[in-house]
Amino acid sequence: MGEQAQAQSPEASARAEIEQLRWYIGEHNYRYYVLAQPTVSDAEYDRLFARLRELEREHPEFADPRSPTQTVGAPIQTGFEPARHAVPMLSLANAFSEQDLREWDARVHRLLQLPADRDLAFALEPKIDGLAVALHYEGGRLVRGATRGDGVTGEDVTLNLKTIKDIPWELPPYVDGLEVRGEVYMMKADFEAFNAQQAARGDKLFANPRNAAAGSLRQQDPRITRQRPLRFAAYTVIGLPDATGHLEGMARLEMYGFPTTRPSRAFGITAVQAYYDDLATRRHELPFEIDGLVIKIDHLGDQNRLGSVGREPRWAIAYKFPAIEEITRLQEIGVNVGRTGVLTPYAVLSPVRIGGVTVTHATLHNEDEIRRKDFRVGDWVVVRRAGDVIPQVVVPVVERRDGTERVFEMPERCPVCGSHVERVEGQVAVRCTAGLACKAQLARSLEHFGSRRALDIEGLGERLAAELVERQLVRDLGDLYALDKATLMGLERFADKSAANLLEALDQSKKQPFPRVLYGLGIPQVGEITAGLLADRFGSMKALIEATLEDLEEVSTIGPEISREVVEFCAEPHNRAVVAKLDAAGLTLASASRQTLAGGPLVGEEFVFTGSLESTTRDDARARVEALGASTATSITRRTTRVVAGAKAGSKLARAREAGVPILSEDEFASWMAAIESQGGP
Ligand code: NAD
Repeated sequence: MGEQAQAQSPEASARAEIEQLRWYIGEHNYRYYVLAQPTVSDAEYDRLFARLRELEREHPEFADPRSPTQTVGAPIQTGFEPARHAVPMLSLANAFSEQDLREWDARVHRLLQLPADRDLAFALEPKIDGLAVALHYEGGRLVRGATRGDGVTGEDVTLNLKTIKDIPWELPPYVDGLEVRGEVYMMKADFEAFNAQQAARGDKLFANPRNAAAGSLRQQDPRITRQRPLRFAAYTVIGLPDATGHLEGMARLEMYGFPTTRPSRAFGITAVQAYYDDLATRRHELPFEIDGLVIKIDHLGDQNRLGSVGREPRWAIAYKFPAIEEITRLQEIGVNVGRTGVLTPYAVLSPVRIGGVTVTHATLHNEDEIRRKDFRVGDWVVVRRAGDVIPQVVVPVVERRDGTERVFEMPERCPVCGSHVERVEGQVAVRCTAGLACKAQLARSLEHFGSRRALDIEGLGERLAAELVERQLVRDLGDLYALDKATLMGLERFADKSAANLLEALDQSKKQPFPRVLYGLGIPQVGEITAGLLADRFGSMKALIEATLEDLEEVSTIGPEISREVVEFCAEPHNRAVVAKLDAAGLTLASASRQTLAGGPLVGEEFVFTGSLESTTRDDARARVEALGASTATSITRRTTRVVAGAKAGSKLARAREAGVPILSEDEFASWMAAIESQGGP
């Protein structure tokens, strides 16, 4: 056979693939264990690892003791002193399915020569995502702490470990020598706060708590480690001669002052599976990240008999959870235009499966966020999706850049209508200035108007709103009520019945109460609650349009910003025209309570409160007169029957005097009300 033919033989290609995989995995190990900056996701790493395992199994002739499948971690390469482990620190075998778990249980039964139906006692521990360390105690004192390294030799990080408050420096006087192993990790909340701090300082961001913990522990300067919120949880103890079970050993460690992974006990593999299923549902509620369940044979004698093969003990297994993090390509950064014109950048991702869902898009929030995290078009990025939470693009993988990536610029014109965009004063948001002349804003406004919590117009969703705007059938909210059957039937997906349904829904929406109409108008910052408050206070759209900034600011629960938005909205002639159209169409533009006031001694009275009241709040005072049948208003008109003037009353008091409206001081009002309330009439 010629050389070329040999290069194509299955053996040669298997060998080439094996060598390539070993090299890649070696690189990834170095980036993960030494630099704490992986460039592929754990799931991707696990796939490469599984492929290498499979090839090595098929081709035992290429076995190599230096293969990553035979070794642990990565050789140490840092400025720390080497620390040899008396007992090697191993890895764990993995299970990814119930079948893997049951096969492991069956193998253990075989090796221990137990009947298949004999339930074993297991210790179950969360697999906390951090890094393993070994702590040595001599004469009751912590004398050395080391990382796992390559399993045989780790790094001496004693000074750094001593900065972690969870780790005791001294043991109770009756304990002498001991080796305690466990995980150094970060709580989720601490990690978020730490990363936010890093961002504020312009320092490196970490993709997840595990990388942050590994990067923080392996600092040359322990003063830096001290500032990092590291925690420790023990899961192994060596040197307790009288303990017979793992759980017993853990209980002992807790007595000595160590936090542990708090193992649970289970009998039989069916119970283990049930525990795993339950933990999987609770996983995202835990304060720290876990990537699986570690299952250990509890009996230490059995552990010894089982021993280990290569890099893994046979008496334990890590039953992994589906990954929540992947690394994928940021293909493009798109820009959405929202209802109020705010431009929101979003990531277009190379499709990637996370937790059973294919992720293709994720929000990037705003321009500042993109700058701060330095996302570039073409970057590889870390994407996380924890539970039902929407996917997040966390950080770019800077190490994977090849120079073709492009810095993103926020467009200076609206991507939909081409109008200028401006930065909103004091905010990070950028807004299209065209208002409802912008098709995107108009379509979103229609959608919002028809949404369930606003006018609840079934059928008026994203697609119809976009089509109505695109075909210029609707130029503002008011036009909705001018739609007729013939027009609707000319639209895509509309037939006789669907057109009739939509017209019926539009008709029904006229009965929706005023607060919903007010909410549906989509005044910036006016959500349902504020709409309710405004409707309550002003009673009608007409009164709201007449209200001054001062009137609005008098509503105690509405801040100056919302007040300004409302006044600006109402001052806009276009918006007034829309309101007039809605009024003509028969929508409810006043509160029912204002139209049919309940009876009471003050029916027919209209109060205006001005100035600041000392013995009560203005809202309470209003509620008191309203309870007796009066109405209240914020400005003095011909309908005003009484004005209550508190301290520092200004222009309204003057107007009341001019108009000859009776004026009560706060004290007078109080005694007047007391009289009415006790007698049932003035
Ligand atoms: P492992 O993480 O699967 O299991 C062993 C480790 O689990 C221990 O060293 C310990 O740190 C930890 N652990 C947590 N809780 C434990 C408990 N209760 N009892 C015992 N151990 C506990 O094995 P490994 O060899 O450290 O790492 C392999 C894994 O690391 C891969 O499957 C992959 O997820 C990840 N990895 C990723 C990359 C990458 O580039 N993304 C590179 C290397 C490794």
